[in-house]
Amino acid sequence: MPKYKKIIILTAPSGSGKTSITRYLLEKIPELAFSISAATRKPRGQEKDGKDYYFITEDQFKDHIKNNEFIEWEMVYEGKYYGTLKSELERIWEEGRIPVLDIDVHGGIHVQQEYPINTLSVFIKPPSVEELRRRLQSRGTETPESIETRVNKAAYELSFADQFKHVVINDDLSKACEEAEKIVRDFLDMK
Ligand code: 5GP
Repeated sequence: MPKYKKIIILTAPSGSGKTSITRYLLEKIPELAFSISAATRKPRGQEKDGKDYYFITEDQFKDHIKNNEFIEWEMVYEGKYYGTLKSELERIWEEGRIPVLDIDVHGGIHVQQEYPINTLSVFIKPPSVEELRRRLQSRGTETPESIETRVNKAAYELSFADQFKHVVINDDLSKACEEAEKIVRDFLDMK
């Protein structure tokens, strides 16, 4: 796989507003394309296979691991696997675009290690763990147990913020979107 192609990683604890910021960037900058991850969890709400994720079985996921088809993969939550397929990045690069990876903190660290050059990494930080809990509750798609799991994981993940090139604090979504857009445009040399 070519090492010189650009990659943008957006990472954050769940509920930090990373998905909203990712959507904003994809709308504002047409050169970007969302990197669709493979995942073994079930679709939520309006999510669609091949758009939000490639929803696959655990057996299919393990075959991809065995065949060395992932750039990185993680068991992000107990029993639930998520991974970035090499073929997905190739697909986007072949379109002449730049993949945006919305992945967890450990996945973000792995991709940076694998692709230290031409990789932009942005860590989106929630204003506080309490605010994060409130946001997850208001999303209405999580059970109380799932919220607790995500909040505990988030508190731990916050300690890795300094491993990323940029940190954006999301206490005001539109400001955070603008700040992220500026960072991405600088990286792409589009002022
Ligand atoms: P959700 O289940 O809420 O869609 O995602 C849970 C977490 O998994 C989020 O932090 C999301 O960014 C992360 N994630 C999604 N795709 C990938 C991936 O390909 N690799 C890794 N390491 N994490 C991912």
